[in-house]
Amino acid sequence: MLSLGIESTAHTFSCAIIEKKGKQVKILSDVRRIYRPPEGQGIHPREASRHHAENSPQVLADCLQKANVKIDELDIISYAAGPGLGPCLRIGAVVARSLASYYDIPIYPVNHALGHIELGKMLTGAKDPLVLLVSGGHTMILAFLSGKWRVFGETLDITLGQLLDQIGRYAGFASPCGPKIEELASQSSNYLSLPYVVKGNDVSFSGILSATKRIIPKGLEDACFSLQETAFSMIGEAVERALSFTGKKELLIVGGVAANKRLSEILQSICKRHSCKFFVAPKEYAGDCGSQISWLGLLESTVKSGEKMENTFVKQSWRLDTVNILY
Ligand code: AMP
Ligand code: MG
Repeated sequence: MLSLGIESTAHTFSCAIIEKKGKQVKILSDVRRIYRPPEGQGIHPREASRHHAENSPQVLADCLQKANVKIDELDIISYAAGPGLGPCLRIGAVVARSLASYYDIPIYPVNHALGHIELGKMLTGAKDPLVLLVSGGHTMILAFLSGKWRVFGETLDITLGQLLDQIGRYAGFASPCGPKIEELASQSSNYLSLPYVVKGNDVSFSGILSATKRIIPKGLEDACFSLQETAFSMIGEAVERALSFTGKKELLIVGGVAANKRLSEILQSICKRHSCKFFVAPKEYAGDCGSQISWLGLLESTVKSGEKMENTFVKQSWRLDTVNILY
C-alpha cells in the first residue's frame, strides 16, 4: 500500500508518502514548508493559507520525486480535516480532493491530533500509553479506553505551545519560539515566582503568561527558566495523577513541545517513580507533518473504505475525544 498524507492545519504545509508491505512500514518521503510570520507576530490564518496554496504544488512534486512514486500509483490519499485554522485546512482538503477525484483514489479525512498520537506510537513502539499531546494547538493528557481516546486533563485556556510562543513573541523572537526559550532557560537557575494553576486535573496558563511578561525586565533568562519550571511542573503534576488513576505503564509525549529536553527530564523522573516506560516522539516527527496524516490514513483504510467526496469537509474544532476508533 502506498499512502499520501497532506497536513495543513496551521503553520506547516506538508506531504508525505508511507509504504506498508505486510508489517513493514517505511516513510518514503516527508516534505514540509513552514509559514513564518514576521518577528513578534503570530500566525495570520489568511497569510498562512496563501503560503500553503503557493507552496503546495512544489511540496507535492518534491514529495513524489523523493519517494520515487507517481500519483496514479498511490492507493489512498488522506488529509488533516481538523482541528485547525479554517483557511489553512481548506488548502489541504482542496489538494486532496482534486487528486483523489482526478485520479480516482480513495480519500480519507483524518483527525490531526490522532495523527500525532498514532505516528508517535508507531515510531516509538509504545503499545498502550498514557499520551501527553503538547503542541501549538493542543495540551491534552489522553488514554485509550473502549473505542475512544479519553481526556484525563487538558488546558482550560491557551496551550503550552501558545504560552511559549506568546512569551517569545513578546520578547521579540520569531515563531515558533519554544527552542529559543529552551536555550535561554538553560542559562539560568534563578527561579522567580509565577502562578501555578492546576484545577482538578486541568491546567491554566493565561495567568503565567501575564506574570512572565511582568518579570522579563528582571532578566530574560531567569524569566524563561521560571516559565519552563512552572508550566512543566504543572503538566508533570497532571500527568502523574493521570498515571496513578489509569494505571498505564507507558507514557508517550507527542507534539512540537515534545522536543523540549527539560520537559522530558521532568516526565522521565515521574515515570521512574511509577515504574512506567517513557517514550518521546522523535524530534523530526514530533511537530506537524504529513507522515502523521499518511500513517493514520493507512490505519483507517484497514477498517473502512474511502469517504464519499461530498463528505470531505474540514472541521475546525474537531475534538479528538469524539472520534470513534475502529482499527
Ligand atoms: P506543533 O503544533 O506540533 O507543530 O508544535 C509547535 C509548537 O512546538 C510551537 O509552539 C513551538 O514553540 C513548540 N516547540 C518546538 N520546539 C520546542 C522546544 N524545543 N521546546 C519547547 N517548545 C517547542
Ligand atoms: Mg499539531
